[in-house]
Amino acid sequence: MSASGTDVHEEVRRGVARVRERIEAACARADRNPADVTLVGVSKFQPEDRVRAAIEVGVLDLGENYAQAMRDRVESLSDLAGTGVRWHQIGPLQRNKVNMVVRVASYFHALDSVALADALGSRRDPADPLHVLVQVNVAGEETKSGVGPAEVPDLLSAVAKHPSLRVAGLMAMPPAPECPEDSREHFAALREVGERLGVPGLSIGTTDDFEVAVEEGATMVRVGRSLFGERPARTAG
Ligand SMILES: *Cc1c(COP(=O)(O)O)cnc(C)c1O
Repeated sequence: MSASGTDVHEEVRRGVARVRERIEAACARADRNPADVTLVGVSKFQPEDRVRAAIEVGVLDLGENYAQAMRDRVESLSDLAGTGVRWHQIGPLQRNKVNMVVRVASYFHALDSVALADALGSRRDPADPLHVLVQVNVAGEETKSGVGPAEVPDLLSAVAKHPSLRVAGLMAMPPAPECPEDSREHFAALREVGERLGVPGLSIGTTDDFEVAVEEGATMVRVGRSLFGERPARTAG
């Protein structure tokens, strides 16, 4: 398949329209307002023309899971800074990469330690607070990042101590589902943690299960492949 500029633009435009329709339908089923669900376009490993096309059709929240990749994106798309794009760091963050996120991100979805909250909070400018979500390992998977539900209150207090940070909610990335319904119990479990602690925001749902996530209360869905197409084979990093 050739991928001339217009083809790419049209493909991404269709992908975005389709995902938005599916979010709206899920909202209708759950009696929710689509304005309460932010679509975060996960641009990791995607070619730049696709990311530009998404921004042009109004996807202004973009997620990357490596801090260096986000920094590089912000640089290469600096001509679009005036469009109001907000960058979301959605992957785990090493302490030595904190400065990159502090400089360019509006949201950080993967807080998993008090030390990291303190590192972010002490470097971010309080005039432009960083919105932070605590990543919860809802399925208790050994290999997954995120904290257990019992540790969430400590992280929320750590965030609250910093005027440069704002609690934006809880995030989860449950095991890859065989079918979308497999994720429902994990999303519901996260929602219950949020309800118990009075935290309203929920970052849940990917290409695999974002409609179920919306039905279970997602305020942010993180969708990559359904918007941009399959990710190209990744190189190291
Ligand atoms: C890659 C990724 C996504 C998006 O996945 P898709 O399958 O492309 O929709 C969402 N969240 C996190 C944390 C990711 O790493």
